[in-house]
Amino acid sequence: MDLQTKALHAGYEKDTQGTMAVPIYMTTAYEFRDVQHAANLFSLKELGNIYTRLNNPTTDVFEKRFAELEGGAAAIATSSGMSAIFFAIANAAESGDNIVCAKQLYGGSLTQTAHTLKRFGIEARYFDVHQPEQIEALVDAKTKVIFFESLTNPSIDVADIEAITAIANKHGILTVVDNTVATPVLCRPFEFGADITVHSASKYTTGQGLAIGGIMVERNGIVDKLKGNDRYAHFNEPDASYHGLVYTDIPLPPFSLRARLSLLRDIGAVSSPFNSWLFIQGMEHLSLRMREHSKNALALAEFLEAHPRVNKVNYPGLKSNSNYEMAQKYFEDGACSGLLSFEVDSLEEATKIVNATELYSLVVNIGDSKSIITHPASTTHQQLTPDELIACGVPAGLIRISCGLESIKDLIADIKQALEA
Ligand SMILES: *Cc1c(COP(=O)(O)O)cnc(C)c1O
Repeated sequence: MDLQTKALHAGYEKDTQGTMAVPIYMTTAYEFRDVQHAANLFSLKELGNIYTRLNNPTTDVFEKRFAELEGGAAAIATSSGMSAIFFAIANAAESGDNIVCAKQLYGGSLTQTAHTLKRFGIEARYFDVHQPEQIEALVDAKTKVIFFESLTNPSIDVADIEAITAIANKHGILTVVDNTVATPVLCRPFEFGADITVHSASKYTTGQGLAIGGIMVERNGIVDKLKGNDRYAHFNEPDASYHGLVYTDIPLPPFSLRARLSLLRDIGAVSSPFNSWLFIQGMEHLSLRMREHSKNALALAEFLEAHPRVNKVNYPGLKSNSNYEMAQKYFEDGACSGLLSFEVDSLEEATKIVNATELYSLVVNIGDSKSIITHPASTTHQQLTPDELIACGVPAGLIRISCGLESIKDLIADIKQALEA
């Protein structure tokens, strides 16, 4: 089945009422038939609902459907993108281990890996996403994860997924790809050798800026990489916290199973059934929206590139962009999602342009159906000096846009009047 068909049907079996829309199962817990049934569920002899921190029928549809779109075996929905990333790393690494991450990461992922995980005894080492060969010198016997974004936010670079996963596979290390900006519609990292993907569902999945959520997906056949692999002893030895279960010995996707039984159980960053339902609504038209976001962003990027006040436009769909070849290789039909940025001469000029726009909202978010404009130097990167700004690829005159679904005629007209005001 095609992705658009799966997005409408996968993972849902209608209840006895024949309900067309997936019902929202707002409930904390579920009644067991009898004591034996309860015991069977707890020992995994039977699979079923226990408590909404572990599973929920609405969230289950979201997880199954998203896993289908990504081409994976199973998924775990979480309360945010940040908790999905934490689960992916914490499911593989423990105190004393290290992870190797791209430098070009979302701000929250940078602080989580550099600061918060450090306090848990997990060290992050960084490589330039344009130089995968740097990874070789960073990995050792304690490396548990290689983590990067397929289409990076906010720097808008495209990772060479095959080059990175080839190095990881040589060493038997799991790769985790944040696929938030590309979405499964434009990029499917499992087809290029990745093991696990994570997403902020708060962005394109909801699509209308409605709710915070996240999801982690594992590929088919990950058990072959985990079984007997010394790096991942906790997948091969009895789990003392779950009556001696050995995750690689049972016929269920082991990475998600452990994340559910151990991390969701003990950390509890679970998706609300209502939010899962919102994400299901968003997924129904995700592929239509991603095509339109990409079309609008390319047309806007082309307009900006031709404008005399604009010094540079960053959008991987432009032939002038250094990521263009990678985007053609990894993204469906070379479509590059809705994120773009452009540079004008100075901070003052950028401020004037952002203030002069009427259709673009000044918001720190991406992936909304409404267009969003941000000026990183005065907001997310405010504390950096002009030299530091240039070093991290955010010059003072840089403006970032998350291109929405408004008419492209109106989007171009508004940015034109702001540039020429
Ligand atoms: C927004 C974002 C996150 C964090 O997601 P939340 O849902 O806000 O926690 C992680 N990665 C990327 C690429 C993002 O854009």
